[in-house]
Amino acid sequence: MSTVTQAEDRGDAWEPPSDRWLLRIDGRSVASRSGDYYRTFDPATGAEAATVADAGAGDVGAAFESGDRAAHEWRSSSLEERAEVIREWAGRIEQHGEELARLDSYDSGNPLSAMRADVRLATRMLHVQAGLALGMRGEVIANGSRSLHYTLRQPFGVVGRIVAYNHPLLYATTRVAPAILAGNAVILKPAPQTPLTSLRFAELVDDLTPRGLFNVLTGRGAELGQSLVEHRQIRRLSFIGSVVVGRKIQAAAAASGVKTVTLELGGKNPLIVLPDADIGAAADAAFRGMNLTSVQGQSCGSTSRILVHGSVAHDFREALVRRLESVRLGHPFDPSADMGPLISHEHRESVRRALATAQAEGAVMSWQGTGPVKGEGYFEPPALLESVRPDMAIARTEIFGPVLSMTTFSTEAEALQIANGLDYALAASVWTEDLRTAHRLARDIEAGYVWVNDVAEHYPGLPFGGWKDSGVGREESADEIISYTQEKAVSVRLE
Ligand code: NAD
Repeated sequence: MSTVTQAEDRGDAWEPPSDRWLLRIDGRSVASRSGDYYRTFDPATGAEAATVADAGAGDVGAAFESGDRAAHEWRSSSLEERAEVIREWAGRIEQHGEELARLDSYDSGNPLSAMRADVRLATRMLHVQAGLALGMRGEVIANGSRSLHYTLRQPFGVVGRIVAYNHPLLYATTRVAPAILAGNAVILKPAPQTPLTSLRFAELVDDLTPRGLFNVLTGRGAELGQSLVEHRQIRRLSFIGSVVVGRKIQAAAAASGVKTVTLELGGKNPLIVLPDADIGAAADAAFRGMNLTSVQGQSCGSTSRILVHGSVAHDFREALVRRLESVRLGHPFDPSADMGPLISHEHRESVRRALATAQAEGAVMSWQGTGPVKGEGYFEPPALLESVRPDMAIARTEIFGPVLSMTTFSTEAEALQIANGLDYALAASVWTEDLRTAHRLARDIEAGYVWVNDVAEHYPGLPFGGWKDSGVGREESADEIISYTQEKAVSVRLE
């Protein structure tokens, strides 16, 4: 059975930073115009944590002006100079890795070991992105010899970047760098629950670029994000978050101008186990695919929808439960714990409501971990639901938590129909030993990313993003850098 360790077992003493956290505008730490602050909560204890500046529309205006000045200077830098800066970002992250990992863990409740892994991933990814940027180029178009035709890739100016709470440092670094590499300035709005590493990182790298190239605005509610989206002169917006908010952003962006918006949204990702699959490996993937030991299942890529062939369902389920039973919940700083709390009380309540609805609709909670036994943190143990029908809410709605649902099928066509039956279409994982089945399903599944006999891995350089309601645009690849440029065609008459 999974167990829970207590907050006092955190393993070592670490004093959370107690100062007020200010906005980063124009290379300085400043209070919000209103002078307002809000409090974050420590997900591991439920206690009030950091005091953070609460920005509004006036602060967006100030950040835009600063960003605009910086972008004018930055756009004339060479790709080599930009790449050098991003490599230096990686160096600063390495130097301050432990501090950043602890801040992320404190803020998000994700295990410290996982946030240390995010630090390593961020540094690796920044080096990859710096390399990819050097490949950014326009084209020469051979349309007759009387003119020379070519295209330029030019930055937008100031980019508005809004992100979710599950990987705060990764988003503040690797999801900002592509816009900077393309020659833009960025205003980052981290999630209200997890602002600390974004603010700290911006401070750490500030001397490397023109003042105001990287601004960070924190705020408690939807108004700040909305002001950023509605700013008339911010014409490039990119978002990581839920489908509901993504759609609001598209609408608000359209109402305030003609803007380029990319969206990385939610998923209800199927993991399909065919009868010829290596069942042990597939069960292990179903466990790893949930990202329980890094973000408590709070990942867009979590394979929360298991579709397993009826003939192997029993063996698969036994192997999966053995893996789930090894999970130990505990304080994020406790080195012996591998799963922390959810992000907030409200979110835990929504996960519990989803579990109750599923059971009311006839799903069977065939296994659940234990805990928490005491304490105020937002811990929620993993749960496995069986006898899930494709029409149930649990099979159709993203829970963004430690909930796995299992549905059986009898033919490949039925599996495909269930897999493609939702408006979500982010990722999928297919388990089979048959080459043709693998490629057929990879071809026919509606999703932006398909793993075959693999799961969860994000390979640097491969485009990540969704189809249908799961998003528009691609990240983690050369395409992401290019998406922060506008194309211009030039024709030069030679005769
Ligand atoms: P959310 O949509 O509630 O919030 C995301 C961000 O949007 C936050 O910074 C929030 O303050 C801001 N926001 C809220 N309302 C806004 C508005 N009206 N205008 C502008 N900004 C607004 O999402 P969340 O709860 O932070 O994160 C969970 C969701 O994010 C899940 O659906 C998950 O699948 C998705 N996600 C997707 C990816 C991906 O790469 N596809 C990665 C991580 C998370």
